Amino acid sequence: MPENLNERFSPVEMSPDEFRKAGYKAVDNIAGFLESLSGKPVSPGKSPAEIRKILGNQKLPETGTSTEKILEEAAELLFNYTTFNGHPKFWGYITAGAAPIGSIADMIAAAANPNVGAWGISPIATEIEAQTIRWIAEMIGYPQDCGGLMVSGGNIANFVGFLAAHRAKVNWDIRKEGIQGNDYKKLIVYASTETHTWIQKAADLFGLGTDAIHWISIDDDKKMNITELEKRIKEDIENCYSPFMVVGTAGSVALGVVDPLQGIYKICKEFDLWFHVDGAYGAFAAALPDPPDDLKSLRHADSIALDPHKWLYSPLEAGCTIIKNPENLIDTFSYIPPYYRFEEDDKDAINYYEYGFQNSRGFRALKVWLGLKQAGKDGYVRMISDDIKLAKHIYNLADSEVELQAFTNNLSVTTFRYIPSGLQLGNKNVEDYLNVLNQELLDRLQNSGEVYLSNAIINDTFLLRACVVNFRTTINDIEALPEIVIRIGNEIDSVKRPAELK
Ligand SMILES: *Cc1c(COP(=O)(O)O)cnc(C)c1O
Repeated sequence: MPENLNERFSPVEMSPDEFRKAGYKAVDNIAGFLESLSGKPVSPGKSPAEIRKILGNQKLPETGTSTEKILEEAAELLFNYTTFNGHPKFWGYITAGAAPIGSIADMIAAAANPNVGAWGISPIATEIEAQTIRWIAEMIGYPQDCGGLMVSGGNIANFVGFLAAHRAKVNWDIRKEGIQGNDYKKLIVYASTETHTWIQKAADLFGLGTDAIHWISIDDDKKMNITELEKRIKEDIENCYSPFMVVGTAGSVALGVVDPLQGIYKICKEFDLWFHVDGAYGAFAAALPDPPDDLKSLRHADSIALDPHKWLYSPLEAGCTIIKNPENLIDTFSYIPPYYRFEEDDKDAINYYEYGFQNSRGFRALKVWLGLKQAGKDGYVRMISDDIKLAKHIYNLADSEVELQAFTNNLSVTTFRYIPSGLQLGNKNVEDYLNVLNQELLDRLQNSGEVYLSNAIINDTFLLRACVVNFRTTINDIEALPEIVIRIGNEIDSVKRPAELK
């Protein structure tokens, strides 16, 4: 030995005392942040250049720095210069604030650091993940002998269902021969035009190409037109295509619409197609005592994608796929490397590396599991139904304001727009101006720090969109919205309105 390695130079190590001190300080900072959150601007309203300047263009540190200083600095940056999805007036996209227990859970998970790729190296964590999956299934009325696993989010959760579907439904060895195997007939998936862009990513990345998506139109309620679906499947079969899957959405990303899942299920049964539901946002609403009728058909799905980082308020990232028959995941993902002997250990053990994309896997389930224990099913039902009531209230307020026009309200998504007084609706110039006006209004709102909305587009009409997946929002927060929108809208209108529309 050239030097004495009995006393390692391990600058990442912390003594228990050092850890205690730094940890308590960090927790104090987090608690202070939570305390001040509702008084902070929702977003920092700064440009990329400004944020870069605040961060500073330092070089890679050659040598280390004391933990106290760098943790303090990180807290200062994060608690001032991000957009706070946990702020009571954040209603953008479908992004939830984080339940505080989740941040503690992530810390505990990282400290124990189980590798939830295999049972042998994560015994209790694997069992907690499996229990979490069963609880989620129970919560939404899905058979509990299902399988599934945690993933990073909705895109990946849907990919898992997509891959399981085409492995299960083709009649050649697709894992060996690829999608253009022996019996090759072009594989086809059906999805409505409102489906999230994960479907393009999946068709593209997994080699089918986006032409493999046969888009089904939507009806006036923005739900998949299932008469067209059935007709299209019949035509495709006659034309020697190989349909394998239909995607229904439970809570569309733009408007929160639930597809006619019961009808889609029947069609899937008739043609032996895989029935996948993208429930990333809306599936948890199936836990309500009086859910939209079609959510009751979730139990028939072959696979469902859900996002605990949406309506279970888990901190990012937490997605989840549940699947009726766990064997389908093994048939899709399992390869056993020669340096693993986990299978020999115990036949009864779940080794998650065989069920999904990853080998090494973090313990995402802990924050979800603790959230479910902290709030219980009742607690979640209450929070979800309150979010829905608050979104409905936005609709009613927009409907009753002269200068706002309400458009849609589904689950906890409401769309509306600002219409300044003195405009005659119904001509193209006015509609064009309203689109420009509402786009600028949204930019201004997002930078204002007063409230955070996003947008939807319906038939070329640009709309403001509020999605309440926020356990901190109160009725007062909602009632502040019309005044903010109209005030900033008026400011823009007073300088932007073209002369011919005055
Ligand atoms: C959010 C969402 C997704 C994508 O999920 P990520 O977690 O952002 O990857 C897919 N589909 C629907 C319906 C969604 O709401």
